[in-house]
Amino acid sequence: MNDIVIIGAGIIGCSIARELSKYQLDITVIEKNLDVAEGTSKANSGIVHAGFTEKKNTLKGSLVAKSNKMFDILSDELEFSMVRNGALVLAYDDNDVRKIEQLKKNGEELGITGLSILDTEAVKRKQGNITKGVKAALYAETSAIVNPYDMTIAMAESAALNGVNFKFGANVVNIEKNGDIHTIYLENGEDIKSRFVINAAGLFGAEINNMMNEEKYNIRGVKGEYCLFDKIAGAAVKNTLFRVPEEKGKGVLVTPTTDGNLIVGPNSQKEQSVSTTREGIDEIIEKASKVIDELPVKRVITSFSGVRAKTESGDFIIEALKDNEQFINVIGIDSPGLTCAPAIAEYVSDMISKNLIMIKKHNFISKRHKMVRFAELSVEDKNKLIKDNPEYGRIVCKCELVTEGEIIDAIHRVPGAVTLDGVKRRTRAMMGGCQGMGCMLPICKIMSRELNVDISEINKNSAYSPAVGFREV
Ligand SMILES: Cc1cc2nc3c(=O)[nH]c(=O)nc-3n(C[C@H](O)[C@H](O)[C@H](O)COP(=O)(O)OP(=O)(O)OC[C@H]3O[C@@H](n4cnc5c(N)ncnc54)[C@H](O)[C@@H]3O)c2cc1C
Repeated sequence: MNDIVIIGAGIIGCSIARELSKYQLDITVIEKNLDVAEGTSKANSGIVHAGFTEKKNTLKGSLVAKSNKMFDILSDELEFSMVRNGALVLAYDDNDVRKIEQLKKNGEELGITGLSILDTEAVKRKQGNITKGVKAALYAETSAIVNPYDMTIAMAESAALNGVNFKFGANVVNIEKNGDIHTIYLENGEDIKSRFVINAAGLFGAEINNMMNEEKYNIRGVKGEYCLFDKIAGAAVKNTLFRVPEEKGKGVLVTPTTDGNLIVGPNSQKEQSVSTTREGIDEIIEKASKVIDELPVKRVITSFSGVRAKTESGDFIIEALKDNEQFINVIGIDSPGLTCAPAIAEYVSDMISKNLIMIKKHNFISKRHKMVRFAELSVEDKNKLIKDNPEYGRIVCKCELVTEGEIIDAIHRVPGAVTLDGVKRRTRAMMGGCQGMGCMLPICKIMSRELNVDISEINKNSAYSPAVGFREV
């Protein structure tokens, strides 16, 4: 019997799990996919926003500045990479200048520090290749970049290290409450019992709410497409660059990633599929070309998209049900949800503490160690590692210099990788110029051996996505 079940292993579910793992509680995270960060948390801009576009008197506005500040300690404790690279919102005419002044004022009223207005010369000093005609910019020094799935994996590993149980391939199809206890029914026929349920099901948050709540919700999917450029293009920008925000959102940005690539996007389309389209890619390339000169379009290595979970109010929904304080919705977490995740986790923990005795663990382990990245080591450290463990001497992904030792580690961590995408996100194998053409098969063979399954059972991501050949359902 669980004290708390969290539905959804995205950044929100995993951050809440990690926060609650500080207490003496039995917690299970239930995820319908085979890994963490398989929903929106794997496909977004990865910006820790300063938060100056958020409205006062909203949950987003009240959480964003506080949460942004939490990233220094968290990235240090959990060893996920974060770079405080600062953001520029570029103004090209008087109207734009008025807008960035308003954004600065709004940000300061939200408690955001480090906001300043820069003139043309100061902007050019920060970023020499900004397009001609820039008049001024709002500079936000607290804006940062993270790798969103790396952060989600780090949160999940820390939660697991502190006793949280993860159940994958577990699609919730119904929930009932009898007395003090919820029964959560899974598609595979199993059921799980828990006193508290936290709905962190992202785009499917309304479906989970509607299983329990008289008040029905509707969450709209709004897709955003991206282009990812190789690491040579990554040097094109240092800061995260925006034009002034559009009606539909923050607009197309140009930013480096923590891994050294360049990313541009997202656009905004009312649909839930994660396919990318020629028109969408043309739109973001055109908009990004208005931000920097000579966008290196020939260096695009892949495109992808993520889907925002939009509520009617435009704000996050974080609430207990009116007639059931043991069921908590944490849904409609669109941007800046990645930024707000640490503060949301504390907020939810405070809500639960009003109805559940929560005793702090004396043995909570705050530190989580990241995986060894062979490519980042000095020659001396590489040699020592290979001497201790020869598996680190066998390069499997030549583009990103990923070794067999790292792939084995990714598989055996908790929660570990059981799909090709899981290995990819943990190690960067298959993320280089050839996008896995050279190393996919050797990785499948290693996974087959380490997981003790036939190679035909290795999936790319979902439960039926055979990586090699074809298999009967
Ligand atoms: C284009 C785009 C750009 C963005 N950029 C930024 C940014 O730069 N900075 C920022 O702060 N935020 C950004 N965001 C927002 C951020 O990505 C989200 O707020 C965050 O990822 C939401 O996390 P989540 O855990 O709520 O959802 P998800 O990551 O989608 O997780 C929900 C999980 O629930 C699981 N689930 C669903 N239904 C069930 C079920 N029935 N049973 C079991 N499991 C289930 C899903 O499989 C999924 O894994 C962006 C979003 C998008 C789409």
